[in-house]
Amino acid sequence: MNATANKPETHKPARRGFPSLPCILCGNANGAVTVSLEDLGQFHCNECDEHFNADAVRQQLSQWQAVLTWCDQAPAVSE
Ligand SMILES: [Zn+2]
Repeated sequence: MNATANKPETHKPARRGFPSLPCILCGNANGAVTVSLEDLGQFHCNECDEHFNADAVRQQLSQWQAVLTWCDQAPAVSE
């Protein structure tokens, strides 16, 4: 018998999630966005208290992707 045999089990299951993912509306990145278990395409930000859905996220990503694509096509600057 070792010295730790009488200690209660202390290891917890690994915490899972997406830390520091910012709200698409207010930009807060303190993990304040929650997802509805009834509809995984519905989100709520506890910081700005606004709701948004997966389509709004896709739209914002699409807008930024268009900018990034345009930036990638700009000519390289020779030093
Ligand atoms: Zn927010």
